[in-house]
Amino acid sequence: MSAANPPAGGAEPRPPLLALDGVRKEFGGSPVLRSLTLDVAEHEVVVLIGASGSGKSTLLRCINLLEPISDGSIHLDGEHITDPRVDPDGVRRRIGMVFQAYNLFPHMTVLDNITLAPRRVHGRPRAEAEEQARELLARVGLSDKAAEYPDRLSGGQQQRAAIVRALVNTPRLLLLDEVTSALDPELVGEVLTLVQSLRADGMTMLLATHEMGFARHVADRVCFLDGGRILEQGPPEQVLDAPEHPRTRRFLQRFA
Ligand code: ADP
Ligand code: MG
Repeated sequence: MSAANPPAGGAEPRPPLLALDGVRKEFGGSPVLRSLTLDVAEHEVVVLIGASGSGKSTLLRCINLLEPISDGSIHLDGEHITDPRVDPDGVRRRIGMVFQAYNLFPHMTVLDNITLAPRRVHGRPRAEAEEQARELLARVGLSDKAAEYPDRLSGGQQQRAAIVRALVNTPRLLLLDEVTSALDPELVGEVLTLVQSLRADGMTMLLATHEMGFARHVADRVCFLDGGRILEQGPPEQVLDAPEHPRTRRFLQRFA
């Protein structure tokens, strides 16, 4: 079921969980995101595809307030989060983000990596944070890795631990930026399986990927980014199998 469908019974449709409106981002005067408008409904999974340099990472980083936007606005749960008066830590607590690589601190065990923010930033008692971390680790099949250092884990295990770390605050939204790009091909599947199980649980996600097969399976909606604009968007079977725009077609030919 797509969460974009209005609820039955004539109830008011809920506002989107995430709303980008006319977002513009410049680096040194060059536009990287150009008047970008995008809504993500609660429980929806939106996948960003597009060539390297099209702005996918910048878009995700702006949502997590790691980059200030140059114009436009971003709302999360109806709150204007790009208002300069908003506390960025309060926003990031509600958003989980996982990057392509180097997500875990190498000098800390997996368990300490996962419980660091809950304990230090959010002041949660160690026992409580560790209990939740162990539950999540069990869920992703990493119970036996809690006391290991990251370099003792495979890349796929490290990324699964990084996703656990992003989930530990029970975020409203998960941002995943090419979380499988740095992995050996045989390790990609275990990370994609985890993302699919989060989708089944109803986690709202916005993710960038170069795995078109994965985009097809996990996306409610695929957005093709080109030069900082969403050139085309729709259900995966539309955008991936019958793209309207010649640039989308050209991009997808690389994966055929
Ligand atoms: P993608 O993730 O789709 O590959 P990015 O968002 O990383 O694209 O990059 C979009 C554009 O923004 C690229 O031209 C890139 O060089 C530029 N860019 C990204 N981050 C910075 C930065 N910190 N400073 C200057 N330019 C940047
Ligand atoms: Mg990127």
